[in-house]
Amino acid sequence: MAKMMRAAVVHAFGKPFTIEEAPIPTPGLGEVLIKVIANRVCHTDLHAANGDWAGRPPLRFIPGHEGVGVVAALGGGVKGLKEGDAVGVAWLHDARGQCEYCRTGWDSLCDAQHNTGYSVNGSFAEYVIGPAPYVGRLPQGCDFAETAPVLCAGVTSYKGIKETEARPGEWIAISGIGGLGQVAVQYAKAMGLHVAALDVTEDKLALARASGAEVIANARSPGAAEQIVKHTAGGAHGVLVTAISPGAFAQALKLVRRKGTVTLVGLPPGEFQTPIFDAVMNRITIRGSIVGGREDLAEAIEFAAEGKVRPVINKVRLEDVNQVFADLKAGTVAGRAVMVM
Ligand code: NAD
Ligand code: ZN
Repeated sequence: MAKMMRAAVVHAFGKPFTIEEAPIPTPGLGEVLIKVIANRVCHTDLHAANGDWAGRPPLRFIPGHEGVGVVAALGGGVKGLKEGDAVGVAWLHDARGQCEYCRTGWDSLCDAQHNTGYSVNGSFAEYVIGPAPYVGRLPQGCDFAETAPVLCAGVTSYKGIKETEARPGEWIAISGIGGLGQVAVQYAKAMGLHVAALDVTEDKLALARASGAEVIANARSPGAAEQIVKHTAGGAHGVLVTAISPGAFAQALKLVRRKGTVTLVGLPPGEFQTPIFDAVMNRITIRGSIVGGREDLAEAIEFAAEGKVRPVINKVRLEDVNQVFADLKAGTVAGRAVMVM
């Protein structure tokens, strides 16, 4: 009989998880079995469990794409990893590796990719499978709970900041200081940028300030955009939107400097309006950004390994998943929740 593990399973969209026994998966060719030690809960997991996006995951499934731990078993043909190595799974579970995007370091755009905790089972479990070429390689002896957020929040923020093309000494405005935004502030500081932060709750703004944001503004207060434009003497060179409200996307266009770039990372279902005249006259770039490729992931891990980025976390248990999701929906502090197995 197959050995069993505990897992948080989605049986129906928008319904609570069940914590149940599931068979421990067997690593196939080129794959490793990872014993999960820590796991951040991303807002994407909530979108997945709610079935928020077109192309819903197949029911039943195990979400989770920021799971870190140690290699517990190797499938055939795995090179460069051994049992006990510290690794983590990311949203990009695997890609075909041959297409024009994979060949040019844009494997996050491969149209044959699989996504952890979405199209394949994820890390809200005691064990998860990761293909050896795509797992994040972590420094031995790392703090697993603090490293888990790097595997999605970290790499997505880091790549998104690069995509704004803001340079050291320039300004970035980060809208949404949740799981992604709080590490985005730290990456931006480590990358030599000045940071302005927006959110709708004061505790998150206080965290942004403590992480090095020089300007903070409540996104809902009248004049928030004007305050940032004034403080940055003309607007931020780059804007990173991680917020889960479409209104934040429209507001981002009011924060950006002429010739600047607004990078969209948050994924609330919905749309926002773009004033054509302003976008044209001010030569504004609006750019989507999806996680990062394998190189971006390795670079993002390096920042954490060097101690330049240390996510602020809140430890919970696998059994707390339904409460964490309720808190995420409510926008309360458990948004930075990391399950410790
Ligand atoms: P989170 O819930 O922890 O954080 C969202 C934050 O947005 C909260 O702090 C909330 O208070 C804030 N917010 C809400 N309305 C706002 C507004 N009007 N203005 C400013 N801030 C506002 O979620 P998270 O885990 O950080 O994920 C954020 C979003 O990014 C989700 O939609 C998630 O699916 C998406 N995401 C995208 C990628 C990608 O590659 N593009 C990767 C990971 C997550
Ligand atoms: Zn994520």
